[in-house]
Amino acid sequence: MAEHEHVRVAVIGSGFGGLGAAVRLRREGITDFVVLERADSVGGTWRDNSYPGCACDVPSHLYSFSFAPNPDWPRTFSGQEHIRAYLERVADVFGLRPHLRFDSEVKLMTWDAEQLRWEIETASGRLTADLVVSATGPLSDPKIPDIPGLDTFPGKVFHSARWDHDYDLKGKRVAMVGTGASAIQIVPAIQPRVGRLTLFQRTPPWVMPRMDRAISGAERWLHRQLPFTTQARRGLLWGIRELQVQAFTKHPGELGFVEQLAKRNMARAIKDPALRAKLTPDYRIGCKRILLSSEYYPALARPNVDVVASGLTEVRGSTLVAADGSETEADAIIFGTGFHVTDMPIAERVVGADGRTLAEVWKGGMEALRGASAAGFPNWMTIIGPNTGLGNSSMILMIESQLNYLADFIRQLDVLGGRVALDARPSAVGAWNRRVQERMKRTVWNTGGCTSWYLDGNGRNTTIWPGTTAEFRRATRRVDLMEYEVLRPPAAKAGGGTPQSGKRSAEAEAAL
Ligand SMILES: Cc1cc2nc3c(=O)[nH]c(=O)nc-3n(C[C@H](O)[C@H](O)[C@H](O)COP(=O)(O)OP(=O)(O)OC[C@H]3O[C@@H](n4cnc5c(N)ncnc54)[C@H](O)[C@@H]3O)c2cc1C
Repeated sequence: MAEHEHVRVAVIGSGFGGLGAAVRLRREGITDFVVLERADSVGGTWRDNSYPGCACDVPSHLYSFSFAPNPDWPRTFSGQEHIRAYLERVADVFGLRPHLRFDSEVKLMTWDAEQLRWEIETASGRLTADLVVSATGPLSDPKIPDIPGLDTFPGKVFHSARWDHDYDLKGKRVAMVGTGASAIQIVPAIQPRVGRLTLFQRTPPWVMPRMDRAISGAERWLHRQLPFTTQARRGLLWGIRELQVQAFTKHPGELGFVEQLAKRNMARAIKDPALRAKLTPDYRIGCKRILLSSEYYPALARPNVDVVASGLTEVRGSTLVAADGSETEADAIIFGTGFHVTDMPIAERVVGADGRTLAEVWKGGMEALRGASAAGFPNWMTIIGPNTGLGNSSMILMIESQLNYLADFIRQLDVLGGRVALDARPSAVGAWNRRVQERMKRTVWNTGGCTSWYLDGNGRNTTIWPGTTAEFRRATRRVDLMEYEVLRPPAAKAGGGTPQSGKRSAEAEAAL
């Protein structure tokens, strides 16, 4: 990478978000952009999570780009290798390869208020960009809890998102820590191979059967020959999930009957009442993500599996001590303990107009206008930003809405013309977030009686979107210039002042 190279747009990350942004930029006629990726290939989540059993838990025909339908998904819930291959294909088909810069971890981004551009330091060199699209993913930096004595453990330790394929689990005493979406896929996949599996469960999840099956050759042929059948299938999957949203957001009480179905699902596989009691959640279904698996409970009922209904609190050599005082000997510990979601590392690396990092600005909780723009960070957008997550549907729907917003953001910059930047007004960010948090009050995520990774350290839900994906689509269709401050370089500004002062130019006033 040449020193001081300048591009119009720098996209960070090459998962669904970054690749989607790259496709969208090309469609808008923009070719002066790079995709900066810290790894050596595309795929994001689907490159990094290669654990046994890894698959999507939203059906593949919905968990894919609307502009790149795949008639050949092999299963209703396809596995990691197929999703990764799909993203590699997207990079090829849409001509993204020339834009990709691998081994280019972004270390620091600083807003240059004189030049109205971002200075970016990466592992492979420096560059500047007019606009940054941060698509670093909410679930891309694994979190391992700080457990006293973990460094004394003589065996193997790894996180589910950094699976060590060179380590053979055969016959080993394995401890699985955590019971989230990854853990419930891993447990049934490794149970037949390990000697003994101990599951450390702080909170039991609600688990519903997963209707996974191979997609037949005839179905695939039909989807290839008649593309509208793929669209119809996607539309049906989307519609069903949209209808569920009311129960999650407004009437959590209605979810009681789903709990009965989940309990029946458990009772079919778990005959031992003591184990059933351990596995029965005491919070409203939906408060944490409802997990889908038809193999999890049967695996837990196998004789080589123990469930410790308590968190792992201490490690003493090869002895693992749980909060209930029980002790377990292990050869390997696998952490399925999630990611840095509300404390994204990238936020520490972005320095905004007033010299503060995004992490400092977000100390009291993440906030961004329409999930994209943070005040004081001009021409900087995040994909899957605050309050854009979903509890029950495909994140690709939200990503594509944010790409509409990005495309309009760029159009607005073009209309304003010249060297210009848009900075979200604090009042607009505040108003948006007040509305989001007001709606959040009634949702199952806030009222369901659980502690989940949706909530930040202050107990505020800054991750989930409290509405339908159609509502979010409408909210992100256009950039409302009234919600932004229009910044010009100091010399170009009528009446002087600094860009940070946020005074609108006469030209911008006219545009409004
Ligand atoms: C195991 C698993 C299963 C999931 N299943 C589903 C599902 O079924 N349905 C669903 O809707 N969602 C699912 N998700 C959520 C999933 O993360 C999103 O759907 C989506 O893949 C996120 O895409 P992204 O591009 O925003 O982030 P990622 O896919 O995480 O990509 C982010 C990219 O940014 C790169 N990056 C990060 N920091 C830097 C940096 N400083 N410099 C340069 N590059 C950087 C990373 O290396 C990565 O390639 C799942 C997540 C996990 C972990």
